[in-house]
Amino acid sequence: MNRVKHKIVIITGGGSGIGESTAKLMAREGATIAIVDIDEEGGSRVAGEINRTGGKAGFYHLDVSIEKDVEKVFTEIYKKYNKLDVLVNCAGIVGSDAPPHEITNEQWDTVMNTNLKGPFFCTKYAVPYLKKSGGGSVVNVSSIMGILAGPTMVYNTSKSGLRHMTKNDAYIYAKDNIRFNSVHPGYIITPLFKKLAAEKDSFEESVTRESQMIPMGRMGMPDDIANGILYLASDESSYVTGSELIIDGGCMIV
Ligand code: NAP
Repeated sequence: MNRVKHKIVIITGGGSGIGESTAKLMAREGATIAIVDIDEEGGSRVAGEINRTGGKAGFYHLDVSIEKDVEKVFTEIYKKYNKLDVLVNCAGIVGSDAPPHEITNEQWDTVMNTNLKGPFFCTKYAVPYLKKSGGGSVVNVSSIMGILAGPTMVYNTSKSGLRHMTKNDAYIYAKDNIRFNSVHPGYIITPLFKKLAAEKDSFEESVTRESQMIPMGRMGMPDDIANGILYLASDESSYVTGSELIIDGGCMIV
């Protein structure tokens, strides 16, 4: 209990999946959560559930790929709490798995704008507030596909960029006591996975197929990732920066 007590935390993509689990877990551990998401219904639902169960949360509608909106919403959040301790960049989309010679300019931009420019904008407007608060922690949700190769070239490239941006930011802001780390989930059962599964075969068939490729024999759950994010957000990781935490049931070791 209270592993992030009194911390003010912004979680992008907090209205669904990994971001939702992280918001609920960190609220249970004493943090106040600002959920930012493009999904109005999901974000309001999660904030409402946290507040009804004794936690503290607010929802802010935001498309992280629009710079002026990120500036506006982050300023609003900082003015409300007069403090910012943690940013979790979790919002992300997958996009097309067409081969690179068939990817359009628009398809490239859509994925890059959310997955890479989004965390850049959010970091850009969080850092001054983290500095004013005496330091903090930024956790970027990348993917094992930011390290491995596969068919979703644009997605994988965006997540690889996010991994490297994390290390650069860790270097640049170490003197300001702001830590940056990336988390690399493997195959996790979330609404995003369910949507992708529905495009191929049934949910059950997708889970069985993916599970067979995972040394631990099962897909991950959102809480498996939320627990890693919580550690990196908390003071338990106060000497950890520029690192990458792989949470994948062993996928990366084979
Ligand atoms: P999810 O359930 O779809 O949740 C992502 C949330 O982000 C959704 O509410 C989504 O809204 C929102 N979002 C999308 N674009 C946005 C934007 N431009 N601005 C603000 N919010 C936006 O996905 P998830 O599976 O939890 O994934 C969370 C993160 O983990 C992503 O970065 C993903 O790449 C990463 N990840 C997931 C897996 C996995 O297996 N699930 C594996 C590795 C990495 P909409 O629903 O309206 O789009």
